[in-house]
Amino acid sequence: MDGTSTGTTAGAAAELARLEERKRRVYTIASGAGIAVIAISWLARTPGDLILEVIYPLLAVALAAFVLAMHRRWLSLEVLEHLALGTVGVVILGRLAWHLHLAGPIDEHLLILTGAHYWSVGALIVAGFVLLDRRHGLRVGISVLIMSVVLVATGAGPELVGPDASEVALLYLIRVHGFLVLLLVLVTAVATLREQLHRELTRSEALQELATTDPLTGLANRRATMDALEREAESARRYGHPVSVIAVDVDRFKRINDEHGHHVGDQVLEEVARLLAAEARQVDVVARWGGEEFLIVLPQTRREEAARLAERTRRALATARPGGVEVTATFGVAELHEGESIDELLVRADRLLYGAKRDGRDQVSTEPLPG
Ligand code: GH3
Ligand code: MG
Ligand code: MG
Repeated sequence: MDGTSTGTTAGAAAELARLEERKRRVYTIASGAGIAVIAISWLARTPGDLILEVIYPLLAVALAAFVLAMHRRWLSLEVLEHLALGTVGVVILGRLAWHLHLAGPIDEHLLILTGAHYWSVGALIVAGFVLLDRRHGLRVGISVLIMSVVLVATGAGPELVGPDASEVALLYLIRVHGFLVLLLVLVTAVATLREQLHRELTRSEALQELATTDPLTGLANRRATMDALEREAESARRYGHPVSVIAVDVDRFKRINDEHGHHVGDQVLEEVARLLAAEARQVDVVARWGGEEFLIVLPQTRREEAARLAERTRRALATARPGGVEVTATFGVAELHEGESIDELLVRADRLLYGAKRDGRDQVSTEPLPG
């Protein structure tokens, strides 16, 4: 049965595991693509380019190690993400520093710098937002931008201003940095929207859960069950399916509270709820109807079958000792009649239940089959 609090936690954990698996797949593909790009750059290198000759192969090895560590689970995915971002960041900024400080006149390699290398600086800014949250992504983006401007000013500065300045280089570098600022603003806007959407979704999910589940047992509450019952009754009327309900009331619960305390009483209710949910089928709705009363809605089920389920549950409860206490319950089983309202169905189930209480409790009561 879905809807218990343990069920929700297990569901969230499974969702997280699926998300991590998807990330692993994406990172593997991205690393593979990265290695391919490095291989192509390395093959097309100009002799004497130290970074391409030495650092790039090392980066390819680091990427392969990253994929291996990820699949062997040597480090957590989060640590690996930060390590990868840091390594790639150092290489990209290192390459930028080399271009601006050591690679000779700026005009000679302006095309490769603005047409190719600054794309990887842009990708680094985006990667910060993909791998980190918005706040840290923004910090990385601003730091990368500042470092880029500082590298330009300290490296190519004299070539950009002064009597022999290269106007083209200055114009291109200003444009590229304008583009990077725009990129940073856009990615920040998208990340902000995504965070807001996520917050809203989480809030509305929490509200939905609060509105439809019972806080003590995690079962569906009365309101959610009424909705489910309306839906089942409608489908029963339309398609001629049967639908049954089981009303459950814990016997002498007041005495349990009095003898063992309210705390044990609560524990009994939680364990009874778990037992009811475990005995019910996946399609059944198990609800806390109020106090020590529960209701089970059984779609497409005749009352004989519902009574069998009730009897099985009664026996299971009688030996379960929830909260360390001997506990029994009484069950009223009714099937929706043609033309009958839900309220009438619930009143009949309740009457059968209270008839069985009068007859001595710890039993299942259902109407005799017609004929
Ligand atoms: P019967 O066999 O006739 O059903 O007797 P009973 O004592 O179970 O029935 P009664 O309706 O007299 O008492 C129900 C008790 O359930 C009274 C109330 O204090 C207690 N109760 C209701 N909700 C809770 C709850 O959330 N926690 C605890 N511990 N007790 C609750
Ligand atoms: Mg009661
Ligand atoms: Mg009771």
